[in-house]
Amino acid sequence: MIEKVPNSVQGFPKQLIDKFGRRVDYIRLSITDRCDFRCVYCMAENMTFLPRDEVLSLEECARLVRIFVSLGVTKVRITGGEPLVRKNALWLFDEIGKLEDLKELVLTTNGSQLEKYAQDLKKAGVKRINISLDSLDSERFKSITRTGELEKVLNGIQAAKLAGLENIKLNTVLMRGMNDDEAHSLVEFAVQQAIDISFIEEMPLGDVDHARASTFVSNADTLKSLQSKYTLTSSTHQTGGPARYWQVADTQTKIGFISPHSHNFCESCNRVRITCKGELFLCLGQEDKIDLMPLLRQYPSDDAAVISAILDSMSVKPKGHDFDLRRTEPAIIRFMSHTGG
Ligand code: SAM
Repeated sequence: MIEKVPNSVQGFPKQLIDKFGRRVDYIRLSITDRCDFRCVYCMAENMTFLPRDEVLSLEECARLVRIFVSLGVTKVRITGGEPLVRKNALWLFDEIGKLEDLKELVLTTNGSQLEKYAQDLKKAGVKRINISLDSLDSERFKSITRTGELEKVLNGIQAAKLAGLENIKLNTVLMRGMNDDEAHSLVEFAVQQAIDISFIEEMPLGDVDHARASTFVSNADTLKSLQSKYTLTSSTHQTGGPARYWQVADTQTKIGFISPHSHNFCESCNRVRITCKGELFLCLGQEDKIDLMPLLRQYPSDDAAVISAILDSMSVKPKGHDFDLRRTEPAIIRFMSHTGG
């Protein structure tokens, strides 16, 4: 039960600053926990998904984004689960795309639905799109995603290019003994396609079948290996996310490294995550959260309580995650598919 609701939110600060002075201007909103893939590092083989009434409606998602934008958020990433398997997801993209003060509407997807939706996403104003791709070998792709078809994703990448989506980036999680021998071929593919690629170190989120310490591949090692083949120049390119970029000489491709283990990026953290249940997680690697769904539902036409809760949440945003690969149990029990990648 919410006891205190400000009568008016007139004069509330139009920016989100946490207790460490970090400005939060980027939200990642998961619009579904469902996915058509079951990637081995992201989900269990048999997942139980949330009942529909425990998931934010698309109207509630749109309302939340509008509120965050009124609080100074300028970048919104739609994610999941797989966001494009949510029925009528395009309606939400259209609504968010209309928000004047929003600078960037971006998407993370596994690419399986892009043939169908790439053009509409472009029309809705999506600026950048991250497509997960962990292997170029169809059998291996199937074993990592458990259900995915490589060809569909490759067609999705072509559809995104044809639709004119400007910034396409591949996201790859390398795992020792599974796909770590593909760093070079994936970069080669990105170069041929004139798109970017980021390597993400696997994070201990959710309980998976493999021991993460044994499959861990350090981005420092991947960089070193790629430098033996490519001339890479450290780039100042910034997307507002945690990746550090390197330009591949004489190509249009940049290689990003998201290194939660080998290069902790928490001091410049500018984002919070909202799950499809309306939980506002203040850090991917900590449990601190605020439940926004009860407020959204209790006050369907008055934003004051939601605004007040979001402003208050800044005082509990943690300093950072403390992922430790030596621990055998996951740092965080919830899967990435719950929090939204
Ligand atoms: N379904 C979409 C996709 O496949 O991109 C969006 C959701 S997915 C959870 C977002 C990103 O999180 C993907 O790039 C995925 O590779 C990454 N991811 C999932 N679990 C991870 C983990 N344990 N460690 C690192 N990255 C992870």
